Amino acid sequence: MRVLWWIRRDLRVADNEALAAAAAADELIPWFCAGDGDDGAWEPGAASRWWLHHSLAALAGELEARGSQLVLAPAGGGTLAALRKAVAVYKPDFVYCGRRYEPAQLALAAAVEAAGIPLTTFGGALLREPDALRTGAGAPYSVFTPYWRAFMRGPAFAKARPAPRALPPLPAARYAGARLKDLGLLPRAKWDAGLAAAWTPGAAGAAAMLAAFQADAASAYEAGRDVPARQGTSRLSPHLAFGEVSPRAVWQELLAPFAGKAVPAGVAAYLRQLVWRDFAAQLLVHNPHAQDTALKPAYDRFPWEKAGKVYDQRLSAWQRGLTGYPIVDAGMRELWHTGWMHNRVRMIVASFLVKHLLLPWQEGARWFWDTLVDADLANNSFGWQWSAGSGADAAPYFRVFNPIIQRKKFDADGAYVRRWVPECGTATYPAPIVDHDAARLTALKAYDRFKALK
Ligand code: FAD
Repeated sequence: MRVLWWIRRDLRVADNEALAAAAAADELIPWFCAGDGDDGAWEPGAASRWWLHHSLAALAGELEARGSQLVLAPAGGGTLAALRKAVAVYKPDFVYCGRRYEPAQLALAAAVEAAGIPLTTFGGALLREPDALRTGAGAPYSVFTPYWRAFMRGPAFAKARPAPRALPPLPAARYAGARLKDLGLLPRAKWDAGLAAAWTPGAAGAAAMLAAFQADAASAYEAGRDVPARQGTSRLSPHLAFGEVSPRAVWQELLAPFAGKAVPAGVAAYLRQLVWRDFAAQLLVHNPHAQDTALKPAYDRFPWEKAGKVYDQRLSAWQRGLTGYPIVDAGMRELWHTGWMHNRVRMIVASFLVKHLLLPWQEGARWFWDTLVDADLANNSFGWQWSAGSGADAAPYFRVFNPIIQRKKFDADGAYVRRWVPECGTATYPAPIVDHDAARLTALKAYDRFKALK
């Protein structure tokens, strides 16, 4: 039997259900296509492409160590056409892949099946499938706490699978694949030094991150997770977004030391956060419009700042970390340099964009999409909509974060701001682009106008 493993956002050999099934074949083709145009308006951004390049390199090494070889589809063009060609050359009995849940990726898998390609899809990207949990009335959940309760009542997970020791060989068929560098995933201009210094894409990098978190921070996560200067969170988000580690493996690894014992509050709080990831994915599956427009459609009529000079100046100052609010600027610069931003600061900068600057959340989501190494359509759309008040369980629009108080509370010793905004407090640092009190009142007036429209 010959199987083509269509690799998607599951760039790992351990605990990979599609690969575990494919490993039983006589011949295996681990095949990846960059899939230009597959994702419509949400093609991977520059930081994601950088990550993907290095993650594919790491996966190629893991496959070779097991007697297999990564096959790359030629650059350019979508996955469907490329898969048709690969199937014509290799003539596999089956095509296996891991599931993805973004609207465009669901449509792609459906198109592959409709084209007569013998596709079987496998779970494992989430802890539970998006349809696994329903309310008593049979509807999908739209509020996290009841989802979480139902989640915890659900069946125990099967044990995470270890990586296979060896994999079946490639068939001899001749296929004109690409070399990794031909995919053009790396930036032409050299802006990626900060990303390279901060991260090690690939399963080994994920394992090291998880081990460090478990040793140093997991038990104290509840208190440590809100201090951006500290390494108090796991920083596993890009590794999870690219499927270099399965959420089930993370869950089990963190619980392993506590078999039969009480689980520390920090670890329990962390596991709850992992379930937010599942929750966001199931929300997107059931509300595909929410990748572009408000989950609660009335919010699409919110009176944002009109396009023009003020709009452009504000957006540019926010993107470049030059708003004159140190905690906002520190976050935006951390993002630009490392491709990642601490969750507390994501909430602060998002609130600042939609409330102080009155710019639509979609502008922020777009910028994050291009600059985050962990860009994930469900988490990003709902993170932004949570901040804009239009999402599930959202922070109400009228609650405006005060960036001065947030800084005092979460960066009390100033370490985070000093690191990213060293000129803070000197004449070269810009004055605030908006006055906090005035901006708050303007935001509240805009909200009143919006309520009158609703
Ligand atoms: P940890 O605190 O260690 O959490 C562990 C894992 O749980 C994370 O890796 C992530 O996979 C998941 N998780 C944690 N918080 C959330 C959450 N609120 N929603 C969904 N999953 C969560 N996360 C992304 O992965 N990709 C995004 O594109 C993204 N965009 C965001 C945009 C905004 C405006 C906001 C407010 C949040 C966004 N988040 C996003 C959620 C969150 O900020 C990140 O997941 C987190 O900061 C990643 O760091 P970590 O791995 O150290 O998290």
